[in-house]
Amino acid sequence: MSFDAILGQSKAQDYLKKLVRSGQVPGALLFYGPDGVGKAKTALEFAKALNCQDPLARQTGDSCGVCASCKAISQAMHPDVTFVDFMYQARLEVKKDFSSKGYQEELEKEIAKQQHINVDTIREVTAKSQQKAAGPGWKVLIIDQAQTMQGAAANALLKFIEEPPQKTVWILITNKRTTMLKTILSRCQPLAFAPLSFETIGQILMQTGAETQYPDLCAKYSGGSISGALKADQALTLLSVAEFGPTGVNAQGPSAVAAELSRTLVSARQEAAAILDVLFMALHRAWKETDNETTRRTYQNTLEQFENYKRSLSRNVSPALLVETALMSLDGLNVPIF
Ligand SMILES: [Zn+2]
Repeated sequence: MSFDAILGQSKAQDYLKKLVRSGQVPGALLFYGPDGVGKAKTALEFAKALNCQDPLARQTGDSCGVCASCKAISQAMHPDVTFVDFMYQARLEVKKDFSSKGYQEELEKEIAKQQHINVDTIREVTAKSQQKAAGPGWKVLIIDQAQTMQGAAANALLKFIEEPPQKTVWILITNKRTTMLKTILSRCQPLAFAPLSFETIGQILMQTGAETQYPDLCAKYSGGSISGALKADQALTLLSVAEFGPTGVNAQGPSAVAAELSRTLVSARQEAAAILDVLFMALHRAWKETDNETTRRTYQNTLEQFENYKRSLSRNVSPALLVETALMSLDGLNVPIF
C-alpha cells in the first residue's frame, strides 16, 4: 500500500510527499477533518514513506510497501512508530498478561470504557519520544482522538511537541479541531482532510468488499466518510423493518424498529445514534427542498426536536424509546428515507 491506495485525499498526500522528499518535516502536524476519511491511514503511510528503505520510493516521497520497515509499520511492529488510540490505551490499562485467559474480554471491556486520551498515556509516549531511535529513519508518534485530551494530558504534551528531538515528528489526529487547546493548536502545522465525495465512498466500499445492503443510500447518508456510510447502512437495515410508505412509516413501524436494537446498551446506543443521524439528514433534506412556508416551519421544529433526541442519547434515556419517539414524530411529515 502507498498513499495512492487512500482515495479522496490527494491534496493532503501531495503535501506530505513533498515533506518526505525535502526532509523538512515540522515537529508536529495536526490532521483534522471528519471521522472515517483516511486520516489515520494517511498518518501511517506518511510514517512508512519517512522510513522506507527503498531509495526509489523515497525519491517520489512515497513508500514501497514491501521493505522490512514498511511491513513492520503495516503490522504495528515498528519500534520507532507509535500509534496511540483508545485500543493502545486500553492495552496499557489491562493488568493481565496478554497471553492469559480472559485477556481479550478484559481488553474489550476496557476499550468500551475509554473516553479520553489520558495523562499517563501521554507520559508514556513522551518518554518514548525522548529515547534513541532503533532505526536510521524517523520516529513517528501518532495520537488519534487528540481532541479527547483534557487539560493535564494536553499540558503534558506541550513542551514535547514544541521541540521534538531531530528526526522526530508528532501527528495529532482530530475530528474536532475547534475544541482543542489553543496552546496545542499553535504548535502544530495543520493539514485538512476533506469529506469524501459520494463517488469516492462508493469506490472505497467496493474495493474493501464491505457488504452494504444499500450502497447508494448509505453514500448519500454518509456525511462524506466511510465510517458514516457503514453506520448509515446499519441504520437503514434496522429501519427497513418499518416499511416506509410515501407519507411516512406504518403504525407498527416505530415499535418494530425499536425492538430490533441490540440488547446490550453500548451497541443499542450506537445503533440509535446511527438511526437518528439518518432521520435527521432525511428531514434536513426535506426542509431544504420544500417551498411551502408552513411545511418548512414544521420541519424546522422537528429538526430541533431531533437535536434533543440526539442529546438525550448520551444521558440515561433508553435508546429504544428514543428511536420509537423519533419515528413517531415523523408521522405525516412526508419525509422520504429510502
Ligand atoms: Zn518500503
